[in-house]
Amino acid sequence: MASEHLDVLIVGAGLSGIGAACHLQRECPGKTYAILEARKAIGGTWDLFRYPGVRSDSDMFTLGYRFRPWTEARAIADGSSIRSYVRDTAREHGVEAKVRYGHRVITASWSSDDATWTVSAVRTDTDEAVSLTCSFLFVCSGYYRYDQGYTPTFDGMSEFEGRVVHPQHWPDDLDYSGKRVVVIGSGATAVTLVPSMAGTAAHVTMLQRTPSYVLSLPADDPVAWLAGRVLPTSAAYWVVRWKNVLATLLLFQLSRRRPESVKRMIRRGVERQLPAGFDVDTHFSPPYSPWDQRMCFVPDGDLFRAVRSGSASVVTGTIDRFTRGGIRLTSGEELEADVVVTATGLNLLAIGGMSLSVDGSPVELSKTLAYKGMMLSGVPNFALALGYTNASWTLKCDLVSEYVCRLLNHMDAHGYQQVTPTAPELPMETQPLIDLKSGYVLRSVGLLPRQGPHPPWRLHQNYPRDLRILRRGSVDDSGVQFCRVSSKAVV
Ligand SMILES: Cc1cc2nc3c(=O)[nH]c(=O)nc-3n(C[C@H](O)[C@H](O)[C@H](O)COP(=O)(O)OP(=O)(O)OC[C@H]3O[C@@H](n4cnc5c(N)ncnc54)[C@H](O)[C@@H]3O)c2cc1C
Repeated sequence: MASEHLDVLIVGAGLSGIGAACHLQRECPGKTYAILEARKAIGGTWDLFRYPGVRSDSDMFTLGYRFRPWTEARAIADGSSIRSYVRDTAREHGVEAKVRYGHRVITASWSSDDATWTVSAVRTDTDEAVSLTCSFLFVCSGYYRYDQGYTPTFDGMSEFEGRVVHPQHWPDDLDYSGKRVVVIGSGATAVTLVPSMAGTAAHVTMLQRTPSYVLSLPADDPVAWLAGRVLPTSAAYWVVRWKNVLATLLLFQLSRRRPESVKRMIRRGVERQLPAGFDVDTHFSPPYSPWDQRMCFVPDGDLFRAVRSGSASVVTGTIDRFTRGGIRLTSGEELEADVVVTATGLNLLAIGGMSLSVDGSPVELSKTLAYKGMMLSGVPNFALALGYTNASWTLKCDLVSEYVCRLLNHMDAHGYQQVTPTAPELPMETQPLIDLKSGYVLRSVGLLPRQGPHPPWRLHQNYPRDLRILRRGSVDDSGVQFCRVSSKAVV
């Protein structure tokens, strides 16, 4: 039986999948497409995470799409505002109707004979298998497992008489008012949860093994407020975006080139916001350099305010075991708890757990090289929306979507049906695709594609540079081969 054929199949209806569909509709209006989404809702991350205070930690002027201004002065937005922003974008651009919910993509097999992907999915409600074909596969599946967050195993966990929750699966019925809460972790989720729970809980302790760099940012952007008053909406958006792109880039570059100066600057900021005599060295001075791991940003210093007020505290130490009443540290200290939140991170997952094959041979992701940070060597007609780790995700995903549209239009104009990134024959020194040293990256980096030392095989965590390469650079360079199906001759 002939299955349905689409020009483009997008996997995932999160921030990047919805953005990809909007670009496709605007820039390649003749293409047929659909979005297969495993869940029952649009929004991805911003629909999944429901813990108290869930919010962005990068500013919305750069986390928002280039084509749809974020019009609030609030730079750091809560999860539900971001969810509404993604859904409203989908609705306004008419892509909502293209989403097929409850379809988890399992495999995709490329056939060079007919330049077609055969994609197998399963319906999550009925387990029914669904198969369709497409000419181009655009994977916008995010970067982590949805079914399970990362929780290390601690001795004695089963003896603990309180409740243990993971932020990725926040229970609706959790009442923590008047309770003693311990949040394990020091990343973005922990620093968000602590001040959000502090007003309601009896006390919140942030228990960390290793501190993170924590910077306070204004929740409301004064430049956005002013620009919104004196400039038309799109001009104001442009100004604030670029201000934030450059400020973020400056901080990242300074961190890499002058780590000691940045350490001192961050430390002064932390000291100013904590009571005299607070042990900054133990609790807020990481043993690594700024941006070796993601930094944490806290709006208007809310974490420090909670610590100042006494409703929250920070403990740095190693867990020995859970006890019936809480957690014992290797130092012998005991933290009493009614609720323990394991803000211990995510499990990385590349391409939504899909298996790929090309002409019958399975694709081993760790043996592929990322081309321009968005396609894979040896994998035809395939793109991947992977955002920045040192700046807002959407800045990069917008560029990737624009590039895919230019590529598709280029192929149509020249009558090509297949485009394949092809790594040079010469041996090349490769490195992991993500160069952060965070635990969640180190745990899985060996399963991800790699990057080479030079463009177009190098992943730039740099928006202005990517802008030149992805928006303005040629789509036909020495890193890709185009061909027509009938002849297969490289042109
Ligand atoms: C709590 C939290 C806060 C964050 N804050 C920021 C921030 O402030 N700034 C920033 O830049 N980044 C942030 N991030 C990173 C964030 O994930 C991205 O900003 C962005 O939301 C990712 O969008 P996405 O659409 O690429 O992926 P996701 O949001 O992960 O969406 C992927 C979608 O694909 C679907 N999917 C996955 N696999 C399959 C499959 N096999 N078949 C079908 N569907 C599939 C999923 O169900 C999901 O709906 C944060 C992440 C977390 C977890």
